[in-house]
Amino acid sequence: MNLVTKEKRTFSRPMRLLSALMLLGEDVIKVPVFRCQRCGECILSHTGFVCSQRCPKRLRNGPCGGTGEGGTCEVYPERMCIWYLIYRRASLFGRLKMLYRVEKIHNWNLEKTSAWLNVFVKRIEPPKWRVPKGEGWEEAEKEGPSGDSNEGSCAGEVK
Ligand code: SF4
Repeated sequence: MNLVTKEKRTFSRPMRLLSALMLLGEDVIKVPVFRCQRCGECILSHTGFVCSQRCPKRLRNGPCGGTGEGGTCEVYPERMCIWYLIYRRASLFGRLKMLYRVEKIHNWNLEKTSAWLNVFVKRIEPPKWRVPKGEGWEEAEKEGPSGDSNEGSCAGEVK
């Protein structure tokens, strides 16, 4: 599995302008609906349509391990851990399997660029609307992230 983001090119001026324009349009929908943080590398469809980039540590592959007992954030204890919310939403939508996908390291060159444009020019993968079948994730989903049960994980505390 290739986990490294492949794009390293800097963007041409026309592309930067187009990206800024498209980002405006994207903001109209994604900021109010998903509280998009403009990472330019959208993984909403993998995280139960909750933006993982609202995590103060910007984690893209699950909680940090500092999640409080009631599912609270370690950095801002007055807030809920975003990965707790992601788990709940993914569970509600029948998309838990998507959480077992390992996301690539974030390409910081894409920050504040249009994710829609980045999909269009194939800089990033398109959203995955359908939960894939038969990719060997079924067992993992049954057993939980630790391999034996959901105990002790953020995900396991949610009922
Ligand atoms: S583009 Fe990035 S920051 Fe915006 S909603 Fe998608 S994952 Fe969140």
